[in-house]
Amino acid sequence: MIIDVLTLFPEMFPGFVNTSILKRAVDNHLVVINTHNFREFARDRHHTVDDTPYGGGSGMVLKPEPIFEAVEALQPAGAPVIMLSPQGRLFTQAVAQELSKYDRIVLVCGRYEGVDERVREHLATDEISIGDYVLSGGELPSMVIIEAVVRLLPGVLGSEESALDDSHVAGLLEYPQYTRPPVFREWAVPEVLLSGNHAGIAKWRKEQSIRRTTERRPDLMAKAETGLQAGNLPGKTREK
Ligand code: SAM
Repeated sequence: MIIDVLTLFPEMFPGFVNTSILKRAVDNHLVVINTHNFREFARDRHHTVDDTPYGGGSGMVLKPEPIFEAVEALQPAGAPVIMLSPQGRLFTQAVAQELSKYDRIVLVCGRYEGVDERVREHLATDEISIGDYVLSGGELPSMVIIEAVVRLLPGVLGSEESALDDSHVAGLLEYPQYTRPPVFREWAVPEVLLSGNHAGIAKWRKEQSIRRTTERRPDLMAKAETGLQAGNLPGKTREK
């Protein structure tokens, strides 16, 4: 997969890209992450990328020309051009799965008061928000999307890191996890996990997953219940 990020602050990305699972994915040629500073596409002497809003008001708005030209230079035929925006559709695991199917995606990071509306109307093919709060730029949202998408690409996670049980993958939250020591400050690991009884462990995990989702995210549970009734999600042994 190729991920192109258009940003005024490409220097935010190397530390992120050169760490842990993402670095391994890049080193193994499973993903190519390119950052492009669209300031380089500003034609005037001062490389101006923003201007005051028509109609007045505070702050500066990103001009359309450098962003259009930067995207057009990439020639991303068929690739979604995704604008990061607090007004976009909400980013979820399902959206990450959807994006992971593309060979290429383009992420456009806004800044300041935002981006000239013509970018959204005539250039972007998608608009994504990472949550109902406002950040100062689209760089962190881009990183959130990159990290969530890249870990879904075939071969990125080793079998020991499989994403299948992760929260949200099947619509539920993951069961509690424990590691050594078996007793820490008198708090013992649930006995079933030490039993070696794989069927018992699987049953406990399904029950915990459902209990957790019911307690913490009843909204997710309500959605998952359709699947539970159809028998295609874990936890048919759901406790009341
Ligand atoms: N004035 C804009 C509004 O009210 O919708 C907010 C602009 S915000 C300060 C600047 C940039 O940060 C946005 O253009 C977007 O790229 C990014 N951004 C901020 N919050 C975001 C969020 N929750 N999800 C995705 N991108 C976000």
